[in-house]
Amino acid sequence: MSIETGPSASASAAEQEPPEPIVCSCCGKVTAQPRYAIFYEVKSFIVQTTRSAIQGIFCSACAEKKAFRASAITWILGWWGFPWGPIYSIHAIFTNMFGGKQPPDINARLAAHQAWVFAVLGKTDMARAVALDALSITKKIKPDKAYARMKKALGYDVTDEGAEIRAQIEKLLELIGSAGGGNRLKDAWGLFRRPFYVQGVVACVLFGWLGYAIETAPPSLPPRGPKPYVASQESYAPPRPAYVRPANAPNGQPWPTAAAYVNGFPHIHTNGFSKVTVDNSQNDSDVFVKLVSLDGPNGFPVRAFFIPGHASFTLDKVTAGNYDIRYKDLSSGSLSRSEQFSLEEKRTDEGIQFSNMTMTLYKVRNGNMKTYGLAEDEF
Ligand SMILES: [Zn+2]
Repeated sequence: MSIETGPSASASAAEQEPPEPIVCSCCGKVTAQPRYAIFYEVKSFIVQTTRSAIQGIFCSACAEKKAFRASAITWILGWWGFPWGPIYSIHAIFTNMFGGKQPPDINARLAAHQAWVFAVLGKTDMARAVALDALSITKKIKPDKAYARMKKALGYDVTDEGAEIRAQIEKLLELIGSAGGGNRLKDAWGLFRRPFYVQGVVACVLFGWLGYAIETAPPSLPPRGPKPYVASQESYAPPRPAYVRPANAPNGQPWPTAAAYVNGFPHIHTNGFSKVTVDNSQNDSDVFVKLVSLDGPNGFPVRAFFIPGHASFTLDKVTAGNYDIRYKDLSSGSLSRSEQFSLEEKRTDEGIQFSNMTMTLYKVRNGNMKTYGLAEDEF
């Protein structure tokens, strides 16, 4: 989760300053049903899969657009890496189709805040309807059992967050009284609405077409020559110069024993909030990785780190901006580069939103992999 919620509004603050309603982070409109939602966008690039979380507080119309965009990009670019491309893509497409991930604890607080704002502004009818909406969201809050058990074991009181928010909302409903009447909000986020059907139909059509294309595709063998001929089994390829795994990092420092930054390389762009995880857990080979900033006239490395095979490493406090990942497979010596990606950071009333990105590296077959325009001098 990449949102830090600020302190919840207290009753005393209400008397001092007019409350700010929560607005859609996209269009800036005040909505009766703002939701914090997370959509996923997947891009694969043969040797790696990138999954980005697109998150924010949205009105239902903007959420619909975000979900469509993320799903469309995933449909086009998500599949082309095996096996994580298809796995992440299917997860992303389904999550987006069902309205994204909507953490109920945050959303109950958002709705409760909005109800309180409407109440202070004297829109009791609206306030009541939004408070009832908030109340229904609290039912989806599941206590974190492991955390609760741990707290209990340490002798603390275990608080039920859902019950706590519910109590606040009920208190608010009491204050509003029955003046508002019994109006309920029309659920702008209901599941079986237009976006769900449209995305569902697109999914069915594309899967159907894919199935048909696979069924009817001719076998993809090259045509035979006019005379029977079978080449001899000898290989004429010149032998490659043998690659030797370097004993140390290029600056002479030893490789770390676990996933870690390599000493002596730049460690900058550290005043941000974004996180980038490079997941090498699918790969037997150790990799030497650089995070390269693309914001200047020339790209330059801002972090350099080592990840053993079957491990992963998370860079944190990364400054917002445009980057790519470049890495050397230390078993084969092959060099690869990711697509450019951007890390974003945004301050909202609810806290700071930032990017949280995972890049999965795949197994690279020994030495026979073409690289992506990444020459030794670009690494
Ligand atoms: Zn909006």
